Amino acid sequence: MNINQKIKLHNRLYDYADKLIKEHNPCKIKNGKCIRGNFCCYGCKYLTENGCSTKCLWCKLWLCVHLRRQPEHRSLILKLRKIERAARKKRLIIERGSGEDLIRYLKNYLQLKNSGF
Ligand code: SF4
Ligand code: SF4
Repeated sequence: MNINQKIKLHNRLYDYADKLIKEHNPCKIKNGKCIRGNFCCYGCKYLTENGCSTKCLWCKLWLCVHLRRQPEHRSLILKLRKIERAARKKRLIIERGSGEDLIRYLKNYLQLKNSGF
């Protein structure tokens, strides 16, 4: 699988995870607050006044401890873990990263792999 194909797969998995999150709405965001209080995006360079400015799969798959402890989210968590396993196999998971960050990461990884490391 080349880098373009990996990016396409990343975006497909992202869209699927995004759909699941919208359907389940675990964070219940209202008036600038989530169910836990403050958003977990605090301090991220991709956070803008209008929310997240990139597509990061890792963030779509991540739920805070507050949500992970609630039995009502069990089926959502299982679905997200399935997506995560597929993404990790193809090295598509980077924390708080943009599409460009992912391309850089994949290029470095492939360079190292091809050089025998
Ligand atoms: S994952 Fe948790 S901390 Fe992050 S927005 Fe949702 S409820 Fe808030
Ligand atoms: S990259 Fe992740 S942590 Fe950063 S603003 Fe977007 S969703 Fe939040």
